[in-house]
Amino acid sequence: MSVMTIDTRPARDIHIGCHRHPFEPATAACERCHTVHCSDCVVFPFRTRNKALCIPCALIAGGIRRR
Ligand SMILES: [Zn+2]
Ligand SMILES: [Zn+2]
Repeated sequence: MSVMTIDTRPARDIHIGCHRHPFEPATAACERCHTVHCSDCVVFPFRTRNKALCIPCALIAGGIRRR
């Protein structure tokens, strides 16, 4: 009997929080899939501050591999 009609607006336009943690404020957007994430969910594989990747995309890109 749980009534969960909290979000009446389209979630895409008001998606300010992290893609995986909706209650965490997003601090960066993934350069690859353009989703926004909190600081725990993004990495900066190439040590550039403006090139954030979410963890799935970073794994795909192979940027967080240690050489
Ligand atoms: Zn991504
Ligand atoms: Zn997150």
